[in-house]
Amino acid sequence: MAEWAGASSLRQVVLASPRSFCAGVERAIAVVEQALRQHGPPVYVRKQIVHNARVVADLQARGAIFVDELDEVPAGGLTVFSAHGVAPAVRREAVERGLPVIDATCPLVAKVHAEARRFTGRGDTVLLIGHAGHEETEGTLGEAPARIRLVPDPAAAETVPVDDPDRVSYLVQTTLATDEVAGVVDALRRRFPALTGPGSDDICYATTNRQRAVTEVAARADVVLVVGSDNSSNSRRLVEVAERAGARAYLIDDVSRVDLRWLAGAGTVGVSAGASAPPALVDEVVAALTGLGAREVSEHTTTVEDVAFTLPKEVRQP
Ligand code: SF4
Repeated sequence: MAEWAGASSLRQVVLASPRSFCAGVERAIAVVEQALRQHGPPVYVRKQIVHNARVVADLQARGAIFVDELDEVPAGGLTVFSAHGVAPAVRREAVERGLPVIDATCPLVAKVHAEARRFTGRGDTVLLIGHAGHEETEGTLGEAPARIRLVPDPAAAETVPVDDPDRVSYLVQTTLATDEVAGVVDALRRRFPALTGPGSDDICYATTNRQRAVTEVAARADVVLVVGSDNSSNSRRLVEVAERAGARAYLIDDVSRVDLRWLAGAGTVGVSAGASAPPALVDEVVAALTGLGAREVSEHTTTVEDVAFTLPKEVRQP
């Protein structure tokens, strides 16, 4: 009862916009939906199609089977590669096994793979700024395991070994925080003055836009709730960015994870969602906050997105 009473001082809810699904996630989900529609279940998906528990559960209920590796797919099983991309070795394995494959890799991740091939192909050591163990970095590293090295932070930038200091380039995981990456690139440039990078930023438009919007919302909010799953890189970055902008910020898979104590004394609560989190989850959070007595729900828009990607030819409608 005391927790309810504390949380009911809530006055304002400010929604960061853009938030929630990006074009790459919408495309990846549509690939699985279309594959189920056209071929019927089961459709095998290597790894989570996008890093969100609700999306995965919904597709599972409709006949998608999520596997960690291709050896779990039976002979002839229709297989979808997730939005995060795969290493060439995985593609080879699928070809060797004769598996029919639909590739849902986000085109912006595919662009980073293409850069990795180009940079390593001209003889560079490529330093990939990103997080260890994430499926996207594993896929990119797989383009040339002997020539690409992971650099997770500025400390690693000081020590990472390269073959020739005059032939070094860098790439960036698409979902990192812009300010964090700048620190790592500065450290690399001090060590390797001839360092070259991607022509345009690897951090994707959706990551950049969501970070900018949540930064502005966090600057005027006491608490920020970011809807997204624990393993979602871009959602986690939104929490960190909101904290750096001065708010208390929490990552929640869905409304059931909100702890009323977080809201005690908060006049303004900001809400955002990672690029893999469905808009319906945000609606549920807003409904709960309204139920707690929020008097005003507004939207703070920093940019309007109009990006859309075409589906792979295998599932395109004629
Ligand atoms: S967050 Fe960016 S890179 Fe990842 S799926 Fe969305 S648009 Fe593509």
